[in-house]
Amino acid sequence: MLVLSNVSKHYGDTQALAPTDLQVPAGETLVLIGPSGCGKSTLLRLIAGLIQTDSGALRLEGTVLTPANILHARQRMGYVIQEGGLFPHLTVRDNVTVMARYLHRDTGWIDSRLKELAELVRLPHELMPRFPDELSGGQRQRVSLMRALMLDPELLLLDEPLGALDPMIRYELQQELKSIFGQLSKTVVMVTHDIAEAAFFGQTLVLMRDGRIVQTGPFTELAQKPAEPFVEQFITAQREPMEQLAAVLR
Ligand code: ADP
Repeated sequence: MLVLSNVSKHYGDTQALAPTDLQVPAGETLVLIGPSGCGKSTLLRLIAGLIQTDSGALRLEGTVLTPANILHARQRMGYVIQEGGLFPHLTVRDNVTVMARYLHRDTGWIDSRLKELAELVRLPHELMPRFPDELSGGQRQRVSLMRALMLDPELLLLDEPLGALDPMIRYELQQELKSIFGQLSKTVVMVTHDIAEAAFFGQTLVLMRDGRIVQTGPFTELAQKPAEPFVEQFITAQREPMEQLAAVLR
């Protein structure tokens, strides 16, 4: 279980995240959603320990995360960003195994884990010697996911992992990612700005606006019992283009 208590962050005059409480039960997929600039990535980066909180505390399985233990705690987290964030000068194999090698994991273990993960994300083994710019966008995201899973983290943090992909590849990877989450039963926190994607992945949606959480709950609850007019506006704004498209096709 990941617990945030009164966590906040500002940049200069901008309150990127107002004091926030949030709980992510172990094994659940929680999706952070909201308009651009509402604080989704800030919240994810705070959880990952990439930036420091102004106030409050984060607890991972009861342990308060501090600057002193965050590097160790990060080995229990896998992090994927929109463009994959792969090191361009490292091959697929070296990107995926970089932390394991840094931690002096056994070479046999590294090789078998690499093979297992390539099968899980369906990445052909012959791509292992390639560099990131020799891969398609979808393949890069598969590699990025392999890297995030390499050390078998308890917590998987995904910041718009499918945002840069074209719709067909995005759809395919959505299906596969969901099946992977199901197989691994990891705790997942995912950022997206797409309500359909959020509803597809998330047991719980966390809708944010201007650095604060507006409503937390399953999609059906947000749709049927919006906490504020904004919730309805946000859902309608994304639903209408789809309904217009459906009307044209009818
Ligand atoms: P989202 O992920 O929802 O698009 P962010 O968390 O990236 O939003 O940003 C929240 C707010 O914090 C925005 O107003 C953004 O401009 C600001 N912000 C984010 N990162 C920084 C930074 N490194 N320096 C200054 N302002 C930032």
